[in-house]
Amino acid sequence: MISPFSALSDIREALRNKTVSAAEVFDMYRSRIDRYNPTLQAFHTIHEIPATFPDSSSALAGMPIAYKDLYCERGRRTTASSKMLENFVPPYDATVVKRLTEAGAISIGKTITDEFAMGGSGENSAFEKPKNPWDPTRIPGGSSAGSAVAVSAGLIPAACGTDTGGSIRQPASMCGIVGFKPTYGRNSRYGVIPMASSLDTPGTLSRTVRDAGMIYEITAGRDPLDSTSLPNRTHVSPDIWTRHRLDSVKIGVPKEYFVEGIDPGVRTIIMRAIDRLADLGADVREISLPHTEYALATYYIIMPAEASTNLARYDGIRYGHTAWEGRSIAASRAEGFGPEVKRRIMMGTFVLSAGFYDAYYRKASLVRELIREDFARAFEEVDAIVTPTAPTVAWKFWQKVNDPVKMYLEDVFTVPASLAGLPAMSVPVGYARPEDEPTGPELPVGLQIMGAPLAEERMFEVGHVLERSYADEIRVPEGYEE
Ligand code: GLN
Repeated sequence: MISPFSALSDIREALRNKTVSAAEVFDMYRSRIDRYNPTLQAFHTIHEIPATFPDSSSALAGMPIAYKDLYCERGRRTTASSKMLENFVPPYDATVVKRLTEAGAISIGKTITDEFAMGGSGENSAFEKPKNPWDPTRIPGGSSAGSAVAVSAGLIPAACGTDTGGSIRQPASMCGIVGFKPTYGRNSRYGVIPMASSLDTPGTLSRTVRDAGMIYEITAGRDPLDSTSLPNRTHVSPDIWTRHRLDSVKIGVPKEYFVEGIDPGVRTIIMRAIDRLADLGADVREISLPHTEYALATYYIIMPAEASTNLARYDGIRYGHTAWEGRSIAASRAEGFGPEVKRRIMMGTFVLSAGFYDAYYRKASLVRELIREDFARAFEEVDAIVTPTAPTVAWKFWQKVNDPVKMYLEDVFTVPASLAGLPAMSVPVGYARPEDEPTGPELPVGLQIMGAPLAEERMFEVGHVLERSYADEIRVPEGYEE
């Protein structure tokens, strides 16, 4: 039997055995969206129910899917959760959308993001602010906030997100689901509204690691429309989904990630997950990634530099919000962009300006190479690296929104893999109470697994075996039952 919390792989089985029809599956999720979206606010746009459903054996035939509101869908409003693009209707599909549609997936709607993917809480959306299903007084993480909420509460079995510095992994961790970003370049960026082009990586939020693999096999691969897309084959051996042990796998635990600033509750859960990996047969050893401490500063130079460049196109003339009072590009931008976007435009413009370029952007690019080399050295020794995904569990709305640096610190564990272009994922491994609220609710904690470039398969194997070992412990949020 299919439930709203079924894995895509189980839904596929049920559809193939004809125990359920694609229309019934779609209806189940649509009625849950109608029921829960008014409070959870995961979706900004909900699409019409399709007139016909694909009846084929293609890989994802009849699977409902949701897209972060950065993925262009032809003829369907795509806003980046920004006033700037409030009425933008793209004339083409993103390559990821195109590939999933060709494989039979059916788009159910567009999910809320922090404006232009800038943020880690969902609060920077110019429209709805998604709520964490585990405690609606808390943020779901971001920027793929609505996608994480929708999967977590069983409003959709899987959703596409984007990850530039952690925007898939961090909300997945905070909402207790799987978040996966492949190696930079594996998934085409064509048609995905850009944030920082050398970091942007489309990926997924799903219920299981296997579901992440299933979607990845369809989306990944060379795309002539994205010159940075990689040609390598992306087959994932079906054998890895039958494994229960990690006997031949070497796993590194970087000592630089366990210094300070991690909530004690999170640390306990992560240490337990690391012990579990050893129990499953993995050879777990301490490693060093010496330039880790520079990653956050490096990211917050490179990312705004590229973001400010990408945002230059929104002038209210060719497209984007036009200010009729004042009628200038500056007035259109002042009205169209929210405060976090403006902050990043200012940071980016500053670090790229004449006289500062060498001191900031160029230096950050050099440090980025050192970070990449740290990982390359580590991956000569180990197959995968594990760390916490985030230093805390989900925090209360407003707690960090007026303190950008506090918010940026939440990205400390996710940005290194982004800078190095590595595949990385977050897998739920338990629950912890917030540090400042010892009697507060138990909230999800994710373990981050990073792989060597193009070593997605190995990463899936580690994630899947670990996830399987937690099958009896991982729950769904209360209050969203069928
Ligand atoms: N939280 C990070 C930021 O605000 C990550 C954003 C992202 O990955 N899109 O930049």
